[in-house]
Amino acid sequence: MALSISMWVAVLALSLSAPRTVTPIRVLVVTGGHTYPTAFYTVFEQPGIAWDHAVSSEEAYRSDLRGRYDVLVLYDMPKTLSETGTQNLRAFAEAGKGLVVVHHAIVSYPDWDWYRDLVGGRYFERSQGSQPASTYRHDEQMRIAIARAHPVTEGLAPFTVLDETYKGMWLAPTNTVLLTTDNPTGDPPVAWVSAYRRSRVVTIQPGHGPESHRDASVRRLMLNAITWTAASP
Ligand SMILES: [Zn+2]
Repeated sequence: MALSISMWVAVLALSLSAPRTVTPIRVLVVTGGHTYPTAFYTVFEQPGIAWDHAVSSEEAYRSDLRGRYDVLVLYDMPKTLSETGTQNLRAFAEAGKGLVVVHHAIVSYPDWDWYRDLVGGRYFERSQGSQPASTYRHDEQMRIAIARAHPVTEGLAPFTVLDETYKGMWLAPTNTVLLTTDNPTGDPPVAWVSAYRRSRVVTIQPGHGPESHRDASVRRLMLNAITWTAASP
């Protein structure tokens, strides 16, 4: 039976009044500057995600990304960025898009304070002024606790994952800490929302290897982070 005109009008009104949902979420995954296992790609094979991959930051930011992607997942570790790249990354963040910063991307751009503040942290490969170099340890059992109820921690229970810890990072006191570890070789905060106001930025410290990429809790955390940042105001 065909729908009557009044029913079509009702359907149209309903679709116009419904909250804007982005389906699928368009994600650009940025790598380069650090090796990683291809198990990382499986993180993005989850419902509601359509993802592309840029193998370097220069490739990622060579043109305006604002109309093409909802979320950038940074898993790269470059030292510097061209003027064009700088402009396009900043324009994306300032447009209220989502950013998820994973693991070694906390080490990126050691001399770019805008990026440090975007991330809400910095890992120091070498000492900088009075700040000593940060340290890392592979193959650590990280026991992870939920620091607060938040859309990014929804559905998560405390879990343990074999991963690489970072210790001695600079962490912004203004971060909203979501997850912590009690592993003594790492800094306690392991996931947080930065205080960057123009868009939603979630930083996730674990994510070194396949044990992490295939862990159900880490996968849920990543999906939550992508979903929440995609709805940046
Ligand atoms: Zn690593």
